[in-house]
Amino acid sequence: MVIRRCQSCGHPSVTPLPVCPICLGDTFDAVHQDGNGTCLSWTRIRRPATDFKCAEPFIVAVARLQNGTLVTGRLAQAEAADTALEIGAPVVVTNQANEPPVIRRVRPL
Ligand SMILES: [Zn+2]
Repeated sequence: MVIRRCQSCGHPSVTPLPVCPICLGDTFDAVHQDGNGTCLSWTRIRRPATDFKCAEPFIVAVARLQNGTLVTGRLAQAEAADTALEIGAPVVVTNQANEPPVIRRVRPL
């Protein structure tokens, strides 16, 4: 997956903000990262917003990547069916596309 790193302070981010939330720098490098991390939390969305109705129910997970970056992503339908994802379990996060809108998937290892 590709993340952004602030050229001024080095803060890694996956959020496409116009400025760095730490130093307000406005220039970023694209950094490739393997996406390995651990599951920090997850929740099942049973009543999604209108734009996401076609996918209900689905699970959104928060993962902490190995560099400390927090990333949200959706579990694939197969994993969502059995909800076997445990807090602290190893996961891999991938981008389905690196251009907005970026859609991330979280997959248990
Ligand atoms: Zn910065």
